[in-house]
Amino acid sequence: MKSNNDYLRVSETFYSIQGEGKSLGVPAVFLRLMGCNLTCSGFSYSLNGVHLGCDTKAVWSQGEKMLFSDILDDWMQKGWMDALNRGAHLVVTGGEPLLQQDKLSCFLKLISDRCSELFVEVETNGTVCPKPELMSYISQFNVSPKLANNGDSKDKRWKPDVLQTFVDTSTAFFKFVVQSRTDVLEIESQFLSLFDLDRRRIWLMPEGGTNRDMSENSDCVVELCKEFGFNFSPRLQLIIWDQATGV
Ligand code: SF4
Repeated sequence: MKSNNDYLRVSETFYSIQGEGKSLGVPAVFLRLMGCNLTCSGFSYSLNGVHLGCDTKAVWSQGEKMLFSDILDDWMQKGWMDALNRGAHLVVTGGEPLLQQDKLSCFLKLISDRCSELFVEVETNGTVCPKPELMSYISQFNVSPKLANNGDSKDKRWKPDVLQTFVDTSTAFFKFVVQSRTDVLEIESQFLSLFDLDRRRIWLMPEGGTNRDMSENSDCVVELCKEFGFNFSPRLQLIIWDQATGV
């Protein structure tokens, strides 16, 4: 039976490919949930000094309540349920999707009943602890903790107990947007040393809000990956679609 409480606050849904991190290039249905608990207003996102801040804020700050059944009907009509059954990943992103984790668990239970081999990725900023019920539906967490360059206060963006939970979860992998050696030294001191985190679980991505800015920063980040033993990830969405979202 349909319940008016069976909803998520959704900013957008689209079918594309995973553009970042461990699952780079995999076909994926994206579910972007509304709202975030950080601002990331400190990101410069430009090597030319242009200050852009969070590159998805205009999208995640808008949205609407969508009933679970309406989301699934829409995806069925568009053929996305077939795509998920063929192996496309479901990527839940934001904003910060764990702000809606109780409702998300209910939605994932429903969709899991219709897709037997569903592979669910959740993109999180690592400040909200996932509950056991949600964890039981998640195949992969993509955790993007924010460094000092993000502009939010440390007590807001850096939650050691939450990060420890993700480190202890074998399905969690970590992505950092970096611009310089200073950022990498912060990852070494604030994450690797403190949490005994295996560097093979870490991906570095070049900062940049446009394809041009990201490309200019890529050589430096590749060299840092080689020197420190991290994985490199471009942001395919910028290479292919530049600043467009929902593609
Ligand atoms: S955590 Fe992510 S979505 Fe939230 S403000 Fe920062 S970059 Fe934007």
